[in-house]
Amino acid sequence: MTVLVLGSANLDLVYEVDRIPAPGETVLSRGFASFAGGKGNNQAVAAARAGAPTRFVCALGADASGDRLAAEARDAGIDLLDRRVDAPTGTAAIFVDRRGENSIVVDSGANALLTDLTAAEREAIGAADVLVLQLETPVPTVAAAVAAAKAAGTRVVLNAAPSGAVPLDLLDDVDVLVVNEHEAAELAGPGDAAAVLTARGCAVIVTLGAEGALVGVPGEEPVRVPSYTVDAVDTTGAGDTFVGAFAAALDGDPSGTGLEALVAATGFATAAAALAVQRKGAVPSIPTLEEVREFRD
Ligand code: ADP
Repeated sequence: MTVLVLGSANLDLVYEVDRIPAPGETVLSRGFASFAGGKGNNQAVAAARAGAPTRFVCALGADASGDRLAAEARDAGIDLLDRRVDAPTGTAAIFVDRRGENSIVVDSGANALLTDLTAAEREAIGAADVLVLQLETPVPTVAAAVAAAKAAGTRVVLNAAPSGAVPLDLLDDVDVLVVNEHEAAELAGPGDAAAVLTARGCAVIVTLGAEGALVGVPGEEPVRVPSYTVDAVDTTGAGDTFVGAFAAALDGDPSGTGLEALVAATGFATAAAALAVQRKGAVPSIPTLEEVREFRD
């Protein structure tokens, strides 16, 4: 499958602290590191490492952070379609204390200016087999990308994250919705989220952490795909690894969004995510196709 991801790219600034500062307080960091991040970027890396020819549409600032993110994406084998806009590259300041609790401030920066799709971006969406979207970029752009994909026959995978607060109408032209339990409840209310969401006509995958994932298609009983039992050391980026690997593993033929094909792609994504949770970080933890194959053998 050729995959086009449209979404966010951030520089994650991670500070290790003894405790997270209270209002008015200054604390010294015990260590600092910065990493490429953002859901769009992570999912593009996951699709590329899973072996799919991958393009990534994103907005970066005309600054050193933008240069770094662009270089790292290209190093990961991604065909980058980046816009350089008049805003700083998105950042996330992440404070992690000794117990592993964190506090995060995100500045969307350039990501908020990913508006009004260009002709080249629409063309790229039409040329891809599958379009992958999340909700860290403006919703009208996500909606325009869904419409462009629909018009061209490109399949749409929407990861309604980090929040499931999205107009339900948007789901009408989505082929596969991927959400975690929290986002599913936000979208569908309490109760049987898979049933409520598949009633909109799209297939739904609800990821359940260590419990695996539930795959639902309209009119059929949902299927539970178990996760692999592993020692999880850091679940950051598990969901993004799952989504990117899932898109890369979708079957290219027209039955590719049928229950059987979705269960198969979910099995692959579950293995990729199980490898990711055994390593620290988001992007550094995303496995390659060879690693996933070896793990599943
Ligand atoms: P998110 O990170 O978006 O909240 P989940 O926690 O549901 O999403 O995790 C996404 C996927 O990652 C799960 O469906 C599962 O395949 C895998 N995963 C997450 N946590 C674990 C774990 N502790 N052990 C094995 N696999 C896991």
